[in-house]
Formats: sequence, structure tokens, C-alpha cells
Amino acid sequence: MRKTDTVRIDLHCHSTASDGTDTPAELVAAAHRAGLDALAITDHDTTAGWAEAAAALPPGLRLVRGAELTCVSPDGRGGWCTIHLLAYLFDPQAEAVVAEHARTRAERRTRLHTMATRMAADGYPVDADTLLGDLPADVPAGRPHLAQALVRAGVVESVDQAFAELLHGRNHYHVPSHKTLAVDAIDMTKAAGGVTVLAHGFAHRRGPTVSAEVIGDMAAAGLDGVEVDHPDHDPEARARLRALADRHDLIVTGSSDYHGTNKTVRLGAETTDPAMLAELVSRASGAGLLVGS
Ligand code: AMP
Ligand code: FE
Ligand code: FE
Ligand code: ZN
Repeated sequence: MRKTDTVRIDLHCHSTASDGTDTPAELVAAAHRAGLDALAITDHDTTAGWAEAAAALPPGLRLVRGAELTCVSPDGRGGWCTIHLLAYLFDPQAEAVVAEHARTRAERRTRLHTMATRMAADGYPVDADTLLGDLPADVPAGRPHLAQALVRAGVVESVDQAFAELLHGRNHYHVPSHKTLAVDAIDMTKAAGGVTVLAHGFAHRRGPTVSAEVIGDMAAAGLDGVEVDHPDHDPEARARLRALADRHDLIVTGSSDYHGTNKTVRLGAETTDPAMLAELVSRASGAGLLVGS
């Protein structure tokens, strides 16, 4: 058993089951190579990668099964704001969960098709039908998939450049989606035996963020934790979130938000305290923690 201070836990990672570039099996192998003790698989709107990750789990590596949900919330200033919720250890067969994932996956395909069609109409060398046709039906379509197509077509040099210049939320190619209310996603996850953590809540570079009061409201509505240590959080954002976690008795997590080569961040770049993972597990009654043997 390693000493507690050397236990390394990364609770937010994507695979090819959504918009990452490592297969679930490659993801857990990479986590083992990176010296991680626990890893969460948190693909957008799907649990499709869970089984492969579990089957390939290297000895001793613990797997936290989860998903990342795109939601909408009041922003605390009279408007609305997109937020991401990490849902962990919920029952993947719960009816509401299955229905919500199916709804968002279908909508994601329509949305990406519209974005690609708008770009093609402006002369960009992308074909919406080919893009969606090449993407397996159960993979939630995301802007990184369109970004990759733009890289392949030589329009941009990297996924990052595609986001910076063409795919960001303020560009007219961007299509918003119909999102579930954060409080409803919190309820749904809890009813399925899972726990929820607000992902990258104060990542200002990504766009508008919610106020501190809204995070308090979410805590009152059953939110279990906040992702504090995230690559998109500056020191001030981390300090403010840590203080909020303290005030509202929220679990504090740290994670890389690894997407393979779709992002530059490495696995384990940010980590979670083992005591926080233990608390998260103790609150869950849906899917248990798996340990590789
Ligand atoms: P979507 O789910 O279609 O709205 O796309 C959002 C996804 O794109 C998220 O998973 C982000 O991690 C990813 N993303 C956002 N900005 C960037 C960026 N600059 N470079 C690479 N991926 C990004
Ligand atoms: Fe993503
Ligand atoms: Fe996210
Ligand atoms: Zn993510």
C-alpha cells in the first residue's frame, strides 16, 4: 500500500466513447503507466466506455465509473449559463439516465450536422453527412469531432486552433443545444444512486460562469462536490471554489479533464485527495468502485 500522500487520483477523463482519442482500454493502460492509483472515466453523455475500461483494468488500478453532463443553470445575474456536471457511480441502467443520455446523444448529432452544414455553406471543405456517417451511432458527437475533420482537411493545424477560430460559442457556426436543468440532473443522478460534482465551475476562459450564490443553491439542491483543481482554473478560481466547498460542505476534487491528443493536458496533471474519493464513494449506492486484479 502506498503512503496516502503519494496516492494519485484523476477523476475526469474522456475516451473514444465520446470526444477523447484513447480507447477506454488505452485510457486505463495509460493511467497505469502514469502511476495513477484511481481514475474516473467520464465521457460526455454516455456510459458506453465503462465495460471496456473495466475489462482492461490493470492490477491495483481503481476505476470510478462516471459521465459528464452538459446542463443549464441560472447564472446568478438574471441570465442562464451552461455548466458541466460530473456524475459518478450511478446505476447506468436507471431509466431516467438511459433516456437522458439517448436524448442528448441524438441532439448532439443534429447539432453537429447543422454546424458542419453552416461551415460547408461558407465554403469550408467539410461534409456533414460524411462527418456524422463516420461517427458510430452511440458516440456522442462533439465539436472536437468537427475540429478533427477541419484538421484533416487542412483548414486548421490543431483542434485548439479550430476551437479558437471557428468553433467557440460566440462564433455564428456554433449551435446551442437544449440542455437539462442542473438541478434536474443532480436529482436524476441521486435517484440512480450516484453523486454529482460541478466540473470546472469557474473556468472563465471557457465562457460565462455561475456566481458563488448559484453554487450554494446547487449544494442546497444536493450537489455533492466541486472540481477545484482543474487545468482551466487559475489560482484565484481555485481559492474561491475551495472556500465555497468549505462553506457548503462540498467534496473537493482535482482532475485533468484528459482528452488524449484532443487536448494538451496529460493524465494526472491535477489530482484528488484520497479522503475526498472515499467520501464520494461512501455517498454512492449505484455502481460500485472497481479494482483491477
Ligand atoms: P461540445 O460538447 O460539442 O460542446 O464540445 C465541447 C468539448 O470540446 C468539451 O469536451 C471540451 O473539452 C472540448 N473543448 C473545448 N474547448 C476546447 C479547445 N480549445 N481545444 C480542445 N477541446 C476543447
Ligand atoms: Fe470533451
Ligand atoms: Fe467539461
Ligand atoms: Zn470533460
